[in-house]
Amino acid sequence: MSPASGGWESALREHGYRVTPQRQLVLEAVEVLRHGTPEEILAEVQRHASGVNLSTIYRTLEVLESVGLVTHAHIGHGAPTYHAVDEHPHIHLVCDACGDVTSVPAGVANPFVDALYLDYGFRTDIAHVSVHGRCRACLADGAGNNADTVRG
Ligand SMILES: [Zn+2]
Ligand SMILES: [Zn+2]
Ligand SMILES: [Zn+2]
Repeated sequence: MSPASGGWESALREHGYRVTPQRQLVLEAVEVLRHGTPEEILAEVQRHASGVNLSTIYRTLEVLESVGLVTHAHIGHGAPTYHAVDEHPHIHLVCDACGDVTSVPAGVANPFVDALYLDYGFRTDIAHVSVHGRCRACLADGAGNNADTVRG
C-alpha cells in the first residue's frame, strides 16, 4: 500500500481520516528512507514542504500507524524507527560495539517464536524488538567483551 498504489487513501478514509498532502508527504518519506526516526522523517519532509515541525510528524505517524500504513521498531535507545508496512518483516541486529544495524528476515526467529507460543501461549511481535550483541566484524577484531564465551 504505497502512495503509488493509491491504497493508502482508502486506508485513511476507511478509518475516518482525511487524505491530506501532509499525510502523503510523511508516508512517502517513510518509504524513501525505509528506516526513519521521526527526526529523519522530518528532514525528508522538509525537503518538499516547509512549515512542518516535529510534533506534526509525530501526530501524523500516529495516524498512519493506527490505520496500518506504517509500523515501528525500537532500534536505538531514543525514538522509534518507522517502516512502511509493505516492507518485508525483519529483525534488527544491533551491534553494541560499532552501532551497526543489520536486517535479517523475521523467519530466522521462527523456532524461538514457535517455542514461546507453544510453551507459554505468548504471541511474539518479533519485528517490534531488536536483538543486541556483537557483529561479526567486531568479534573478529576482538572488540566483543564476550568474544571468548561466544567462541566457546
Ligand atoms: Zn527495519
Ligand atoms: Zn513500540
Ligand atoms: Zn560491530
